[in-house]
Amino acid sequence: MAIIAVIWRDCTPLFWKAVRILEIPAFVLVFDIFHTNHPDFEHEHWRMLAIERREYILNRLRKEGRVQVRELSQELGVSHMTIHRDLDYLSTQDDRVKKVFGGAIMERPYPPEVGKCAMCGKPVPTRTAISLQTFSGERLEACCAHCGLLLLETRDDIVSGMATDYILERVVNLKAAVFLIESDVVVCCSPSVLCFGDEEHARRFQQGFGGEIADLDEAKKQVVFHMTLS
Ligand SMILES: [Zn+2]
Ligand SMILES: [Zn+2]
Repeated sequence: MAIIAVIWRDCTPLFWKAVRILEIPAFVLVFDIFHTNHPDFEHEHWRMLAIERREYILNRLRKEGRVQVRELSQELGVSHMTIHRDLDYLSTQDDRVKKVFGGAIMERPYPPEVGKCAMCGKPVPTRTAISLQTFSGERLEACCAHCGLLLLETRDDIVSGMATDYILERVVNLKAAVFLIESDVVVCCSPSVLCFGDEEHARRFQQGFGGEIADLDEAKKQVVFHMTLS
C-alpha cells in the first residue's frame, strides 16, 4: 500500500510524521500558497517547523545512517539551502553528524536503547519485555514476564501493563495475556514465564516445550510460589 498526497507546504512535516508512524511508502506533491502574506506570523511559524524538520532529519540519520539533501528537500518541501542549513546546525549539535557531498552521515549508529529491568537490573530484551505503568505515570520495565509478575506482586501502585508476545513479538495487554510457566525454553529468568496474546499459540508451544498455561493471576501466584523460600 502507498499514499499519494497533495498537501500544502506548511503541512509537510506533519504529513511525514504521520507517514513515519504508519510506516507506509508515500509520494507527495507539495504546493505552496499564502506563503508570503504574513511575514511576522511566518517567521514564528517557520522557526517552529525548523525544529520539527531537524528532528525528522535526525531520526532518518539514526535509522538509515545517511541522508541526501535532494531527497530531504523533496520530502520536506523546502529548498536545498534550507536542508544544508539544517545539516550544518545538526552537525554543530551532534558530533556524530558529518556533512558529506550531497548530504550527511551519522558516523556511529546510536547504541540500541535498552532499559534495565526494575526487578533484577538486567538489560531488557525486546523479545520478552514487559512495560508497567504506575499510578504516578512512571514507566517500569521488566526483562521478562517472570520479573514483571514479581513487580506486580511487590508494588501496589501499578495500574496497567503491556507484555510482548513471544512468537509474534507484538505488544499485548498483560491482563489479557496467556502465560506459559516453566517450559523448557528459558530465555531470561528462571522459572521461565513466556507471554502469548493467543491461547492457541500458547497451547501449541506447550505441546513442543512443556510447561503450564496460566492467566495473569495464576501466573503471578506460581512465580511468587517458586520464588518463596519457605
Ligand atoms: Zn528482570
Ligand atoms: Zn528476566
